[in-house]
Amino acid sequence: MKGKLSVIGFGPGSFEHMTQAAKEAIMESEVIIGYNTYVDLIRGLLSGQHIVRTGMTEEVSRAQEAVRQAQAGRKVAVISSGDAGVYGMAGLVYEVLMEQGWRRDTGVNVEVIPGISAINSTGSLLGAPIMHDACTISLSDHLTPWDLIIRRVEAAAAADFVIALYNPRSGRRTRQIVETRSVLLRYRSPQTPVGIVKSAYRDREEIAITTLERMLEHDIGMLTTVIIGNSATVVYDGLMITPRGYQRKYTLGAD
Ligand code: SAH
Repeated sequence: MKGKLSVIGFGPGSFEHMTQAAKEAIMESEVIIGYNTYVDLIRGLLSGQHIVRTGMTEEVSRAQEAVRQAQAGRKVAVISSGDAGVYGMAGLVYEVLMEQGWRRDTGVNVEVIPGISAINSTGSLLGAPIMHDACTISLSDHLTPWDLIIRRVEAAAAADFVIALYNPRSGRRTRQIVETRSVLLRYRSPQTPVGIVKSAYRDREEIAITTLERMLEHDIGMLTTVIIGNSATVVYDGLMITPRGYQRKYTLGAD
């Protein structure tokens, strides 16, 4: 009896935006492991699975427990919001397995099921801000040194990437978004469009479009993704749009 470990990204939080593969893997699992809030978000799919709920800062023990349960022969689902491979549980599960010398052919079966990451879910609510070369940067310096993060912010700013800022701010971490904005202002106009989305596709969703100059006047927290436009991004009728360049190449108004 060989266990199975599925690391599942369930998307932004609504059922409609979860893949069929993610739903099936959750329904077929015997054990569900995840952060409390996430277990609540997928409650509708549960039918007697054993649930291991853990707090926000217990990722490591969560991953270890998942590996242990799968090695005991169970079908285990580790759930992450968005995509599990984007600041999620997928990499950590593999780190725990590598540490044990796990091999794909002899060890437990592992699969990562993709989900809609915040850059995509929040982007869709803002209009079409991504459209062109873009990157994600997490402002959490819990695991990554701040000087590396801010260097990446600067490189992305200089290279005119559209930037999706994950983990922009928390109760204790308030300085990072302020410094990030200062660096961005060295490369981009204060009028650069900025989209701020809280709890995309969840209860209490909030969407705001502002500018680099005024972005800090808005409520930014743990459930927020901040999208910084590039030099071509515009705001049109309350939407944030990054033209890809079709207008330069074709005359869009003509037949
Ligand atoms: N694996 C997740 C990211 C986890 S890091 C993904 O792929 O989306 C947590 C950060 O993700 C949050 O601080 C926020 O910046 C972003 N995020 C995740 N879900 C979100 C949602 N529904 N709405 C807005 N931002 C979200």
